[in-house]
Amino acid sequence: MDQWTFLDTGVRSAAENIALDDILFTCRNKNFIPNTFRFLQFAPSAVLVGFHQSVDQEVRIDYCREHSIDINRRITGGGAIYLDETQLGWELIASKDFPLMPGRTEELYELLCKCTVNGLKQLGVKAAFRPKNDIEVDGRKISGTGGTFGERVFLFQGTLLTDFDVDTMLRSLRIPIEKLKDKEVESVRERVTCLKWEIGYLPEIVTIKTVLKEGFAEILNVEIVERELTKREKVMLKDKIEHYQSDAWIYGVRRPIKHRKTLKSVIKTPGGLIRTSLIVDIPNKRIQSALITGDFFAYPKRTIFDLESILKDSVMDQTEIEDKIMGFFQEREVQIPGVTPTDFVKAIQKALEKIKYLKLGIPLEDVNNIFTVTDTFDNVIDTPVFLIPYCAKLPECNYRQQKGCSKCGKCTVSDAYELAEKKEMTPITILNFEDLMQTLNELKQKGVKAFLGSCCEAFYTKHLDDFLEAGLPGILIDINNETCYDLGQEREAYNGKFENQTNLKIDLIRRVIDHLR
Ligand code: SF4
Repeated sequence: MDQWTFLDTGVRSAAENIALDDILFTCRNKNFIPNTFRFLQFAPSAVLVGFHQSVDQEVRIDYCREHSIDINRRITGGGAIYLDETQLGWELIASKDFPLMPGRTEELYELLCKCTVNGLKQLGVKAAFRPKNDIEVDGRKISGTGGTFGERVFLFQGTLLTDFDVDTMLRSLRIPIEKLKDKEVESVRERVTCLKWEIGYLPEIVTIKTVLKEGFAEILNVEIVERELTKREKVMLKDKIEHYQSDAWIYGVRRPIKHRKTLKSVIKTPGGLIRTSLIVDIPNKRIQSALITGDFFAYPKRTIFDLESILKDSVMDQTEIEDKIMGFFQEREVQIPGVTPTDFVKAIQKALEKIKYLKLGIPLEDVNNIFTVTDTFDNVIDTPVFLIPYCAKLPECNYRQQKGCSKCGKCTVSDAYELAEKKEMTPITILNFEDLMQTLNELKQKGVKAFLGSCCEAFYTKHLDDFLEAGLPGILIDINNETCYDLGQEREAYNGKFENQTNLKIDLIRRVIDHLR
C-alpha cells in the first residue's frame, strides 16, 4: 500500500494558506515531499477568487473591507468562494503517476470527490459527485472543488460546508442576485447545504477530519501518515507570504466590473412565472452562472439546480443553449406542470436579448430596467403614446388624480411630458389599474401598434398576464424610489390611492424615446 503524508496546517490567513498551496505544489514537483493530503482552515473569514478570476468582478470589495473579510486569489481555477472558520478545506498534492490516476481530468475530479463522499457516508450524509466538480446532497451543493496541474503533479482541493452563514456569503460575493431580497436569498439557500443542516448538529471538527481522512485513504487505497511542515516548507512560507499578501497577486487579474453583467428576464407560462438571472461575461460571450426561479413546480426538485449547472460556462449562442436545454430534458424524467423545455429556452433567450439593447444606446447598467410585453425591444418602434403612472406626480399636485400635467417642473412627470411631446407622442397619465386596462384596450381598438410606459418591476411581474391579455406590444421602463410594492401598499395603488411619490427614470426614458421612430 502506498504511503501518503498528512498535514493539518490548522487555522491560518488566506495568504498563508495559498502560499502553502504553492509551496507544497512546488515541493512535490521537485520531489522534496511525498504525495500529501492537507486540511486547511481560514481565519479571518475570506473570499477567494479562482486563479483566472478578477476580484472586481466576483467580490463585493467594500462589504468585505467593512467586515474585515480577507480577499485573496487561489492558485487553482474555479469560482469564487466564501470561507469562514467553520469551513474545512481539504487538498491533495500528488504525483500524476499514482496508481489510481485516471486518464481524463473529469475522471480524476470524480475519483477525488468520491473520497469526500465516502467520508461523509460515515456521518450519515448521502452525498454524491455532481459533474463537473461539485459534491451535492439531493441536488444541493455541499462541497465545491478545483485543481491545478503541473508537469508531473497536481493539486486538487475542495471545501466542505460544515456550518454556513448564507447571508454573509451572499453579501461578500457577486452572485446572480442584485438586491438581496428575502425571496432571492431563499432561492440561493435552496441550492446549498452544509453538514449541520443535513444531520441536525455540527460534529466536532476532529470527527469531520477523521472521517474525511479515512474516506480518502480507503478510496485511494493508501496509508496516510501524519507529519509537520518541514524546515524547508517553513522557510519557503516566510519567503513567499509577502507575495501572496500583495495587491499584485490578489488583484493580478483585472477585468472591469462593467464586462460582467447580470441579465434578467421574466416570462409567463401556464405553470407559472419563470425568472431568470444570468451572470454573463460579455467580451468572452459566456454565461458564467444562471439562477432560475419562479412559482412553478418541478419534480424532482433538483431539476432546476441541475439545469443551472449545465448552463454554467455556456457560450452565449442561441443554438447551443437551445440544444443544451432540450438535450437536458430529453435525458431526464422530469415533470414541470404547465412549463415546457421551450419555455426555459425562451426565458434564457429573453435575458440574453438584453445585450442587443447596448447597440441601441442603452447603458449596461440600465438593461434590466426595461421590460417588454409580447415583442422584443428592437421590434417595438412605432409607439404614439407614453403611459405615465400617477404615483410619479407630486402628492399635493392637483393633477395627481387627473389626466394631464401643467409642466410646472416640480416632478419628473414634467420632463416626461416634454420628452413625449417633442417626439409627437401623447403622454397619458394612468390613474389606476382599471384605467390602464381600459387605455390599452382603447389604444388597440384605435389601431395603435405599440405603447411606451413606465411602471415598477413588481407591477410588471404581477400584471404580466394582464399586459399579455391586452395584447398590445410595449416597452415599460422601471421607476426610481420605493414603490407601493416595497411599502406593502399595492391595494392602495391599484385603486389610485397610493400616497407616496415615485420618480421616473428620465435619462433612460430619453434614450428609449430616441430609439423610437
Ligand atoms: S410637473 Fe405636472 S404632475 Fe408634477 S407637480 Fe407639476 S403639474 Fe403636477
